[in-house]
Formats: sequence, C-alpha cells, structure tokens
Amino acid sequence: MLKKLKIKYLLAFLLAAIATMMSITLGHSWSIAQAQKQTQPQTQIQAQNKPVETSIKTVSLQNAGLQLQEVGQGIYALVASTDFPPVSPMVAICNGGFVIGSDGVLVIDPFQTSELAELMIATVKSLTDKPIRYVLNTHYHFDHTGGNVAFVKREVPIMGRGVIREYIQSGRNNTGGVTPPTMIINSQTDIWLGDRQVRIERVDGHSSGTDLVAYVPDAKVLFTGDMVFNKRIPFTADGDLRQWQASLYRLIATFPEAKVVPGHGDVTDVTGLQAQQAYFSSLERTALEWKSQILTKEQVLQKFAKVPDAYKEYKFKGLYSTNLESAYEQFARSATIPLIP
Ligand SMILES: [Zn+2]
Repeated sequence: MLKKLKIKYLLAFLLAAIATMMSITLGHSWSIAQAQKQTQPQTQIQAQNKPVETSIKTVSLQNAGLQLQEVGQGIYALVASTDFPPVSPMVAICNGGFVIGSDGVLVIDPFQTSELAELMIATVKSLTDKPIRYVLNTHYHFDHTGGNVAFVKREVPIMGRGVIREYIQSGRNNTGGVTPPTMIINSQTDIWLGDRQVRIERVDGHSSGTDLVAYVPDAKVLFTGDMVFNKRIPFTADGDLRQWQASLYRLIATFPEAKVVPGHGDVTDVTGLQAQQAYFSSLERTALEWKSQILTKEQVLQKFAKVPDAYKEYKFKGLYSTNLESAYEQFARSATIPLIP
C-alpha cells in the first residue's frame, strides 16, 4: 500500500513538473517572481515589513483551493478543501495558519511548495505590517513542510520537533528536497509575539515523534496539525494509533473550549477532536473482532475494503486501506502482554 501511496505522490509531483514546464512555456509571471526572489533574499526581508503588497502573487487563494478564515482576533486559518491526491500540485493539501502578535507573526505549516509558502507570506502581508518571526512545522510530512524553503531564504527560524531534520534529510515519506527546520524544540515551549503568547506542546501518534500542537491562550485557538483530520480518512501509515488516541484524550481534557484548526478539513472545536477519537475507537473495535475471528491481514484487506457508511462524506478515502493495515498491525496482531509467572 505504501508503494501505492508513493505512486500517488509521484503522480502529484509529476503533475507539478508538467505545470511548472507549462507555466515557463507560457511565460507565466510567477516563475519570474520566483527567480527574482531567489537572487534577492535581503530585499525580501525588508519588503516583508512593508505594508503594501509589492510582490507578484504566485497563485491566488482560490486557485490554491484555500479559504482564509479569522478564527480569533488576529489569528487566521488557511483551510484547504481538496481531496487527495490534489488535482494540481498548486492546490494546497493541508491547512496552514498564522498568529499575529503586537510585534510579529508566527506562521504554522507553510504548505507543500515554495509557491504556496509565498502565497502564505503575501496573505500575512495583506493583513499586517508586522514581520514574520517564526515558522512552526507541526510535523515533518511534506505537505506541511515543503514551503519551508521560502522562509529559510528570509532567515526566519523554523521550529520542529525531535528527529524532524533527520527524517527530512533522509527523504522519509516523500520529503526528499524539503528544507528542514532550523530550530528543534523537544518540550513545551512558549513563544511571545510581543504581548501575545503561543504555547507549543508535544503530542504523539501521527508522525513517529515529530508532532506538535500550538495553542493561543488569549483567544483559545488550538492548531492541532494532523492530530485531527476533520471529515477525512486520516493518514496512519506513519502513526502509532494508541499514542494518537492517548494524545487526543489529553487534548480534549486540556482544551475543552478551544476552537480547533485541524491539519486537514474545516475548522472545528472539541467535537472534531472527539470525532477523531471515535474514529479510532471504532477502528479498534473492528480490529479486535478480526482478532477474535483469527483473520489474516490479506483477508481483512479484502473483506473490509469498503469505507464504512459512517464515513461516506469523508474525503481522502484512498487512505482507508492503510488504516486497515495500521489497525491490523497495531490492534489485532499486537500481542497480549504476558503475565509474569
Ligand atoms: Zn501528516
């Protein structure tokens, strides 16, 4: 199945290459803008503080499939609506966002390409003249980190957790060519954007030890990264489902009143966290039935291939079979802890 996913990613990137070639052929303005930016990083740092939008936009929010939403005062989510794989590489797969404080801005998850990151920067600049001080990668997956390069060029520090640099440098899960974060945080960290606090916390379960969430206490807004796939089948091929469940319990208990910006899907609240939790509980119950029936993984993949009706409205259905595999490996096949004799 991983192979299948890889083929999908490869196809998406093949489309990216074709689109790039087409835009060059058509003399599309964004490639010129990109070339200029590559040779003038210092100018861009200065330009970032200018209140007027001067750069040529690489792609519009609409063409990127993104919707800008103010989720708290000075806190914005860029919400992606595409299914997976996206129809075009210029369409954002995941959500991003930013928090504006009194003296600077934190950007969260700059999407999968530098063009989409430029769109993020242009969007920030259209709303504030404060400089972007930090970028946060909620985890290492390429759809959340591919745009890092646009911020490294501007010497904006990018935060990530744990072995995120090692994962990206080894090209794990299609992150080949992605620019890794420049700052590693491994415990709860408070960032102050002037008088505004953003708390970054560790969570676990989605991405093998690189998951982080960001919470803005004064507005009760929580950016969960991919701990929440709202009305989407989650990507679990890299996950630990029991850790994921435990982290969801903790997030629900800690942030019961939060407005929740998920990694994928519409902005939600505690009900989105609960729905994610219910999804895994249901998957676990199903997997324990497989275990009692002593089914093989092949039998499970064959008999349960259809996405249950409860999720018929969900996007990312192509990921469902990897969910079956994860559940089989982690719930059904996991050995019972032996009693000490
Ligand atoms: Zn992810």
